[in-house]
Amino acid sequence: MTIQACLEEAVNTLRKAGIGSPRLDAEVLLCHIMQADRAQLLMRGHSLLTDQQLRCFRQWVARRELKEPVAYIVGEKEFWSLSFYVNRHVLIPRPETEILVEEVLRVIPGIDRRPVRILEIGAGSGAISVALAVSQENMQIVATDISPAAVAVARQNTVKAGVAARIDFFVGYLFADLAGVFDVIVSNPPYISDAEFLTLPDDVRKYEPPEALLGGAAGISLHREIIAGGLRYLAAGGYLVMEIGATQRQPLAELLEEAGSYANISCRQDYAGCDRVILARIL
Ligand code: GLN
Repeated sequence: MTIQACLEEAVNTLRKAGIGSPRLDAEVLLCHIMQADRAQLLMRGHSLLTDQQLRCFRQWVARRELKEPVAYIVGEKEFWSLSFYVNRHVLIPRPETEILVEEVLRVIPGIDRRPVRILEIGAGSGAISVALAVSQENMQIVATDISPAAVAVARQNTVKAGVAARIDFFVGYLFADLAGVFDVIVSNPPYISDAEFLTLPDDVRKYEPPEALLGGAAGISLHREIIAGGLRYLAAGGYLVMEIGATQRQPLAELLEEAGSYANISCRQDYAGCDRVILARIL
């Protein structure tokens, strides 16, 4: 079968299954099998697939038909222009999380200490810590995650990006009994409320790790604990930078104020105009 014919077959299958972007998904899957980019794939539309390539492609299309995310099928997702390994033990990095990385990079010049000591809580695939490490040399990063399987993926990603020497991982809940203090605490904690979870598309709800998504009844229980932990783990003048859900700005700003020691509370929107990152500086 030719590349073009396989793509047509897959697009029809995926469209019938209700997949929102059938052509893009089919092309991305086939690109990985043919080890080509999309332009090359389309230029070579009349080339034939080997039997093995065709068998693999059809298996992958069948998985996508069941709503498995493309990133898990191909084992890879791009974030911060880097390629990350992903599997079902880690949340797939989202483009809007690049804003979290940008905000950390934006506050770093306001910190006098070098290397800057950074703590990431809930590292998952390691995307945030790796993006920070490749963006700036003078940084010492500690990253925690409750899932040993996630930490294994994150470690692979630090090696892949060539920054393994600058990120230390610990398996444990939130602050994982760490010693010492940090200049920045950054986190994309689980923040989906119980009610919102039920409305998520199958791709997310059935395949991504619930422990990376569910943030308690209102979705902010992890933020609440991180805000409390920041009082102990942030050095004076340090920053807390967290990703949030679109409706969580106000309750979190209130929690930060009630905690007593945070100032300069601000929020940044994502490109869809939703509140996405909350920041505060500790006094
Ligand atoms: N943004 C993710 C989603 O839409 C949730 C990420 C999280 O809970 N930290 O599914």
